[in-house]
Amino acid sequence: MANHGNEFWKYCAHCGAELDLTDWPPVVETTIDDGQMLVHSFCDSDCKAAWMP
Ligand SMILES: [Zn+2]
Repeated sequence: MANHGNEFWKYCAHCGAELDLTDWPPVVETTIDDGQMLVHSFCDSDCKAAWMP
């Protein structure tokens, strides 16, 4: 298994589909308790909208 690196955002945070990185996917950045930034990426704006609270 490859180390974490930047791999996490190759997959949609909503449906888990592997993303086509030829186009920059829509992303949402969130900050967790210790101030670390997390980036969540999505297939498209529909998945992004469905995932957001
Ligand atoms: Zn998706």
